[in-house]
Amino acid sequence: MRKYVIMGVQGSGKGTQADLLAVDLDLVQISVGDMFRWHVKNHTKIGAQVRRVMAAGELVPDDLVESLVRQRLEQHDWNFGFIVDGFPRNARQAEFFLESYDIDGVIQLDLPDEEVRRRILARRLCSKCGMDYNLIADRPTVPDRCDVCGGELVSREDDTEEALAARLKDYHEKTNPLLDLFRRKEFVFAVDARADKATVQQEIRAKLNLPPYQGEES
Ligand code: AMP
Repeated sequence: MRKYVIMGVQGSGKGTQADLLAVDLDLVQISVGDMFRWHVKNHTKIGAQVRRVMAAGELVPDDLVESLVRQRLEQHDWNFGFIVDGFPRNARQAEFFLESYDIDGVIQLDLPDEEVRRRILARRLCSKCGMDYNLIADRPTVPDRCDVCGGELVSREDDTEEALAARLKDYHEKTNPLLDLFRRKEFVFAVDARADKATVQQEIRAKLNLPPYQGEES
């Protein structure tokens, strides 16, 4: 059983790296941001509560986040473990999480703010299937169309200069200090996220003592 948390500023590749680990190691990937986006897209009650907060790049109230994470983990479908992305983001969430679960490792993806800005403003998402693209490193074959389902590519509502500034501020003020809390338990593995995704994945595996990454199947 492996239980990991992946942390890093927006655009550092948390989702991508978590996905590569999850697929290979049979881990359940839990992305709090994805769960909220699902609620917004499907017009649920939770979606209505969080939509504006998310669009402004602000953090959703802790109670709501914690109950969502708790409910998700209580499904106990994670026989081989899980990797949580986008959580915890502040001291209260970290306390709740550490009290409830034994974590094997925190992966910290490091990326300078200028690179975050460059990546985030180039990020696109398929409006139909949710596949991620990046106009710098991961362009679609046909402009503005998803390679997988042909859906239209759009920007995330919170990938604007303004919302990004709010998210970066929150990250530096609230999320980064958590690393000190985790470091006291000696399980933070810092990885330079400037490299391409395969190199970053390889480094994560080396640090976590996991079998090497074999690349994506074509
Ligand atoms: P992400 O996809 O991780 O960038 O998350 C998108 C948005 O969802 C954030 O800007 C927040 O509004 C909300 N969100 C995701 N995770 C959390 C969290 N742990 N605590 C509070 N809000 C969150």
